[in-house]
Amino acid sequence: MQKTNPFGEDRLHEECGVFGIYGHMDAAAHTALGLHALQHRGQEAAGIVTFDGHHFHNHRAMGLVSDNFGAGTAAIEGLAGTAAIGHNRYSTTGETVLRNVQPLFSDFESGGFAIAHNGNLTNARTLRRQLVRRGCLFQSTMDTEVIVHLIAISLYSTVVDRLIDALKQVEGAYSIVALTNDALIGVRDAYGVRPLVIGKLDGAYILASESCALDIIGAELVRNVEAGEIVVINADGLHSIKPFAKQNRRFCIFEFIYFARPDSIVEGTDVYATRKRIGAELARESHVDADLIIPVPDSGVPAAIGYATEADIPFELGIIRNHYVGRTFIEPRDQIRHLGVRLKHNANARLINGKRVVLIDDSIVRGTTSMKIVEMMRQAGASEVHMRIASPPTINSCFYGVDTPERKELIAAQNSLEEMAKQIKVDSLSYLSIDGLYRAMGEQGRDATAPQYCDACFSGDYPISLTDQDGGAASMQLSLLAEIG
Ligand code: SF4
Repeated sequence: MQKTNPFGEDRLHEECGVFGIYGHMDAAAHTALGLHALQHRGQEAAGIVTFDGHHFHNHRAMGLVSDNFGAGTAAIEGLAGTAAIGHNRYSTTGETVLRNVQPLFSDFESGGFAIAHNGNLTNARTLRRQLVRRGCLFQSTMDTEVIVHLIAISLYSTVVDRLIDALKQVEGAYSIVALTNDALIGVRDAYGVRPLVIGKLDGAYILASESCALDIIGAELVRNVEAGEIVVINADGLHSIKPFAKQNRRFCIFEFIYFARPDSIVEGTDVYATRKRIGAELARESHVDADLIIPVPDSGVPAAIGYATEADIPFELGIIRNHYVGRTFIEPRDQIRHLGVRLKHNANARLINGKRVVLIDDSIVRGTTSMKIVEMMRQAGASEVHMRIASPPTINSCFYGVDTPERKELIAAQNSLEEMAKQIKVDSLSYLSIDGLYRAMGEQGRDATAPQYCDACFSGDYPISLTDQDGGAASMQLSLLAEIG
């Protein structure tokens, strides 16, 4: 049997989701629900650490949140305490094995310390090499563990000062939640690349990657953790510290295109409404006469609604998605592998036959899914198939916490628009311009001198230095310990 993932391969993957709560009697259960709402940010593993005033408790496991912390699982009962942090993992750094499942927990002289991280440190391997030379013994291959060792060897006295000391040495994108004996801590890097919001429920503070994790437990959205801000939540309330040199905010613009859940508010912006505006911009930029606007489900739906409304062409669900196909599918026989994408998507043939269709998708990564979907439209009898992409061409890898194939595997990095149209076998192909994307975000356009967002996967303009890539440390062997994932 061959274990493959024929369905999720041609998408970019967000690395992680984080959640934390302080001062609530149902801390573990609320954390499990919050992680469940953030499941789209990572499906490979999940973990929760709680503190009961005396002891820390933890449960970390491979698989989905519902499998490990859902009804009928014993894990929640064992997670006592009124403070908790949790993490969903999709690995971009380190193999997917149990020792790489967060939150990480350490015993410091001052007490326990648990940490969960969304993002990616761009000098982690360089720092790790230095720390190993100093005698630090790493237990995982995760970049996050570098922060733990930097805290452990810091000469400052309080945990918060040690954390600040550690974070001043790391580069990269991070939204962190951490739990100590007396506080829940939230941090965003100085550029604010990855999201982190503050919520409140029954007087208890909550930290979460997205507001949808607050909605699921009936909590109110208070505000974002700001770029470069540390929030310390303890028995006295919430305290804000801004210890880092101020930088221009560079929030990940791809969160609005694809990663964030459409019902979330991130950076104070409604994701669903933004995606509809992106679709409307796309329609203005690349109109084509057609009979139907069809979204590639599910992520293309809001942009397709915006496109159809602006173009005044009927919106129809011409592709139906099977929601019960897991991320990983074990194919019983080689002979059925050619079914590929059809196990997940099926054309609504009666709708499509004889029609000129415009397919709307959020992005194209390798192009393999696009090819299969276009073929499916032709087989269903479409007379013309046009494709419109609700983002600029993805031509660069992300080093800030999103799993992107290498540049050589990105179809738009290796081919002209005409070549891509030929490969995907569409009658026409157009992407949203980068200025169109910024207009949909409410800007005049992209400010080339001080871009308002991180858009490096489109522009190649990386806001944070890529020390490991530049120094060649990326290929360094991280661990001699082999494990079965
Ligand atoms: S490179 Fe792209 S995916 Fe990565 S943080 Fe920047 S905008 Fe987001």
